[in-house]
Amino acid sequence: MNTKKVVLLLALTFALAAAYYFDVGQYFNLEYFKVQQAQISHYVSNNHLLSLTLFFVIYVTVTALSIPGAALMTLVAGALFGLLEGFILVSFASTLGATLAMLASRTLLRDSIQKRFSDAFKTVNAGVEKEGAFYLFTLRLVPVVPFFVINLVMGLTNMPARTFFWVSQVGMLAGTVVYVNAGTQIANIDSLSGILSPALMGSFVLLGIFPLLAKRALEMVKRKQVYKGYDKPKQFDEDLVVIGAGSGGLVTAYIAAMVKAKVTLIEKHEMGGDCLNTGCVPSKAIIRSAKFMADVNRSADLGFRSANVEFSFSDVMSRVQRVVKAIEPHDSIERYSGLGVNVVQGEAKITSPYTVEVNGHSIRARNIVVATGARPFVPPIKGIEQIDYLTSDNIWGLKEQPKRLIVLGGGPIGCELTQSFARLGSDVTQIEMLPRLMIKEDEDVSLAVQTRFKQEGIDLLLNHRAQEFVIRDGEKILICEHEGNQVEIPFDQVLVAVGRAANTKGFGLEKLGIETTTIGTLSVNEYLQTKYPNIYAVGDVVGPYQFTHTSAHQAWYAAVNALFGQFKKFKVDYSVIPWATFTEPEVARVGLNEQEATHQGIDFEVTRFDVAELDRAIADEEAHGFVKVLTVTGKDKILGVTIVGEQAGDLIAEYVMAMKHGIGLNKILGTIHIYPTLSEMNKYAAGEWKKARKPEGLLQWVEAFFRWRRKDQASAVANEPRAYGSLADVNNTAVFSSAESARLTH
Ligand SMILES: Cc1cc2nc3c(=O)[nH]c(=O)nc-3n(C[C@H](O)[C@H](O)[C@H](O)COP(=O)(O)OP(=O)(O)OC[C@H]3O[C@@H](n4cnc5c(N)ncnc54)[C@H](O)[C@@H]3O)c2cc1C
Repeated sequence: MNTKKVVLLLALTFALAAAYYFDVGQYFNLEYFKVQQAQISHYVSNNHLLSLTLFFVIYVTVTALSIPGAALMTLVAGALFGLLEGFILVSFASTLGATLAMLASRTLLRDSIQKRFSDAFKTVNAGVEKEGAFYLFTLRLVPVVPFFVINLVMGLTNMPARTFFWVSQVGMLAGTVVYVNAGTQIANIDSLSGILSPALMGSFVLLGIFPLLAKRALEMVKRKQVYKGYDKPKQFDEDLVVIGAGSGGLVTAYIAAMVKAKVTLIEKHEMGGDCLNTGCVPSKAIIRSAKFMADVNRSADLGFRSANVEFSFSDVMSRVQRVVKAIEPHDSIERYSGLGVNVVQGEAKITSPYTVEVNGHSIRARNIVVATGARPFVPPIKGIEQIDYLTSDNIWGLKEQPKRLIVLGGGPIGCELTQSFARLGSDVTQIEMLPRLMIKEDEDVSLAVQTRFKQEGIDLLLNHRAQEFVIRDGEKILICEHEGNQVEIPFDQVLVAVGRAANTKGFGLEKLGIETTTIGTLSVNEYLQTKYPNIYAVGDVVGPYQFTHTSAHQAWYAAVNALFGQFKKFKVDYSVIPWATFTEPEVARVGLNEQEATHQGIDFEVTRFDVAELDRAIADEEAHGFVKVLTVTGKDKILGVTIVGEQAGDLIAEYVMAMKHGIGLNKILGTIHIYPTLSEMNKYAAGEWKKARKPEGLLQWVEAFFRWRRKDQASAVANEPRAYGSLADVNNTAVFSSAESARLTH
């Protein structure tokens, strides 16, 4: 706790203790005031300015300390100073006191509470930022929630103190007038609760919801404004038109067809989009072939003297295409037509918020979903235009293996293809301008991948910025800047894998004025709507994650919100998003890692299980990597997991499930995992967590109990058969380490 907090806490404790000691509560009641009124009024009329000042100070102190009494003091202000003076006095004193109480709560509690309940506060803070002033205004206007509760709770949020002050000042005006006015008739008042009649209360409620209603009305007007100049068709041809038949578009169309909506899906190129044709599928196919070569190259590890493989690169690439062809039917026109989707081959153009043109034909669409994906981003490096560079789009057409291959980029795509081509025999130089590969992952993760890459002979050039491509004496050379020096790297082919740019241009969005974000993806709200509420966007074109499974996840929200949004709309949920990079070691993650949790100021604890200890990993010669689990401090609630090692992408599923459904490490530890499998690493990570939190004090008592029992009942026990407890109990209490319990389960 810092000095500021300590001083504030001491001051508050002292003030509250003094209030309790002097029993100030006895003065804050209506009867007491009525009895003393004549005497106090006499003092006030003789010392007016001093009385005003004293009253102001007492009012601010009472409200700042959240001592009950503000309502009574407001009445008293009316009785002593009259309507106008009393109103002005209370209005400023109450706002100042409220702001001080809010700031005290903020200083003492906000950081720790926000850290502890970080998930919940993400939503609260977003809400406060967007509509906080409206809600505070409503709360101030409708005196239902106690004054001091509002102050303390708002202190926990990120609302700026200035906003809090002026909204409170304005919001409390009406209530203050009513109370001060009532105070001028204090002799007729018997209780505080009697001041507000049901009719008056009703008026306050109406006043309170007025700003919210006004805001909604404003939104409606804005929406109308957006569509100005476009006539809404009297009839529609389709409930939904989906542009792009990649993962996002296909799933959107599928859901629409399943709920019997009329849907047209338009694709200008190949059904299946990037994932099937140039992304996930071909990359995973080449990774598999490359892994076989890597196994051959370490045949001695598996007990063979030598192994030799003859292969042609073009055969491997043919296999990659064979795999694509095998999966193609899942995304084919025939399949989707059979499901009831009207599939159109052609380039779509949005001509108005309600019309999409394709092949010279205009379709009137009640809703449109943009799922146009992304393309490889090609940076404007000097001389790049004279190089016949490769991207993830055209690399799959290679027939000849590049001898010297440069891979530009240390993200997932660059890493997967670097390792694959290196394993197949290319001399690969991977170039990354940042200090490590996979920069979004923790440092230990990058290090594990980098170490393996170097072991496999990949030339890894970190902190190298590509500056220029030149062709000198017929040889292609990349010039990089590294620590102020120029480094020249000759090469035969270069793969550019430095990121992906969203496809937002050339099909009508610019003309409609649909905004993009600073990183070039489409701007959408939490329902995936663009500024035209009937035009949605999903997948790589919108981000923030560019994966097949996140595109499919968004597709559900876009389809359901578009088709049923007038009844209920759903905010897209990004709380538990997993992904994997299929290098060796494989890297999979769900939720937060250490660098993100630290950056977000979230309190967390880290538990690590080293896969080198795992029996199955040892048997498979894959005893490397780790499971790293981040949990809420003092709890088993999982904030995020990273797995590095064999099959990490599959193994993370258990943690994804746990996070999604609020299952903690205790429950994972109490779940039977088959021996010997790699999945045991998940349980053992939970075991490590438990082991670090075993109840030492209790175990000392248990030990003492056993000691006593051995001594006291030694003779009786000698004649009885021994009873053993269940091993499962032992495992679950995790008195043993995970590795110990693994051995015990053999
Ligand atoms: C090498 C590589 C490996 C990858 N590996 C993985 C992985 O292992 N796991 C994973 O989850 N993700 C992976 N991805 C990412 C994944 O491929 C994408 O996230 C996913 O394909 C996005 O789907 P989408 O529907 O948004 O876009 P896309 O699949 O790109 O589909 C968009 C479609 O829209 C069409 N289109 C565009 N404009 C128009 C128009 N005007 N009219 C008609 N049609 C149009 C395009 O032709 C395209 O078919 C990988 C990507 C690459 C490049």
